[in-house]
Amino acid sequence: MSYDKVDVPEDGEAITLADEETGELNVPSNPIIPIIHGDGIGTDVGPAAQKVLDAAAEATGRSIAWMRVYAGESAREKYDENLPEDTVSAIRSHRVAIKGPLTTPVGAGFRSLNVALRQTLDMYANVRPTYHLEGVPSPVKNPEAMDMITFRENTEDVYAGVEWEAGTDEVEKVRRFLEDDMEVADVIHDGPVGIGVKPISEFGSKRLIREAIDYAVANDRDTVTLVHKGNIMKFTEGAFRDWGYEVAEEEYGDDVITEDELWDEHDGEQPEGTVVVNDRIADNMLQQLLTRTDEYEVIATMNLNGDYMSDAAGAQIGGLGIAPGANFGHGRCLAEPVHGSAPKYAGEDKVNPTAMILSGREMLDYLGWDDAADLVRDAVEETIASGQVTYDLHRQIDGGEKLATSEFAEAVVDKIDELA
Ligand code: NAD
Repeated sequence: MSYDKVDVPEDGEAITLADEETGELNVPSNPIIPIIHGDGIGTDVGPAAQKVLDAAAEATGRSIAWMRVYAGESAREKYDENLPEDTVSAIRSHRVAIKGPLTTPVGAGFRSLNVALRQTLDMYANVRPTYHLEGVPSPVKNPEAMDMITFRENTEDVYAGVEWEAGTDEVEKVRRFLEDDMEVADVIHDGPVGIGVKPISEFGSKRLIREAIDYAVANDRDTVTLVHKGNIMKFTEGAFRDWGYEVAEEEYGDDVITEDELWDEHDGEQPEGTVVVNDRIADNMLQQLLTRTDEYEVIATMNLNGDYMSDAAGAQIGGLGIAPGANFGHGRCLAEPVHGSAPKYAGEDKVNPTAMILSGREMLDYLGWDDAADLVRDAVEETIASGQVTYDLHRQIDGGEKLATSEFAEAVVDKIDELA
């Protein structure tokens, strides 16, 4: 395939799909990997993560042929468009990629490029691990109690972008349809109103919940928790919960049991090697994250709940500078940190690149490069534990050495060389 709007590397081989059904990949030892540095602090954390991932690849006898692709500000500067088709097709055909944050204007302006990328590529699972690294300051007493992974549905919910602006002919048409045809009376106040739609499908819910349960089964996790607000939104969030239990009951045989079965049939004693599927109401779950942290291992939830919850969980293990993520679907992975573009720190070589580096770790894991992935985690953890940290962590610890973004990346690279 030829591209006009990406920087094609001189060497490297393409990753290909080995098995359509399982999404298994053929990964060469020098894969071509597209990277979007991102807007704002993406210009700082993108190159920093690239350096660390290069070092981990090299230390394990491999190399990464980076293919620089553009979206957001960098794409507007170079090509006068927000998201060139070449960027999307490079990620689609190379299967594994990493991106920094992209700015989304609030209210007016273009729609989120992050959402557009996830939807166009149908990367339906946004996966956010939250685990504590030794030495990272936290606002809670026992941050190590958190070792959780959130599977957030990525393609529907109120994020689907089905909404109409107050004052437009379209919104008035929707209002009339709701009031006249659907007899939704006395709910929508008179005067200007914005209306949005919240689609939650059986298909979208079940494929996400399957990913979460598959992960729990493969990684010996004890529980999967369906998080929803089904007491209020019965036909959307309530349906998500019901479809979740259907998947658990119908597709996994004895490997997976529901919380009801745990009590009714096993007196609360979880049989060895099983996964228990339970559910929690979203507001209660946000409390439980703080009060019963270690009871939760794998979360499956919808788009908006997942966004709120993983940010809150991220705060418990050290904040947005630390929290990694990745999007998955159809044998593809697009790694990206949880944080945004933090425009006020852009280009200052100041912020913490750990979230982007650990997102890269998720990507290495997906390539099957477990040794390189472990090396990245260990090197980041030891660097932070030694007191070498960026400003966000430095202001919360006694002593330590405050490093710039690029210096922190260098310190992690040195640690990788030492550990390898
Ligand atoms: P943000 O995550 O960019 O920043 C919020 C605050 O968190 C910052 O001011 C900073 O204090 C802290 N922070 C974030 N990343 C940090 C890091 N690496 N190191 C240290 N501190 C860090 O959130 P925001 O200000 O709400 O959003 C800014 C822009 O980013 C918006 O346009 C938003 O739409 C976008 N955004 C993009 C993504 C994405 O690309 N996936 C995710 C969230 C927000």
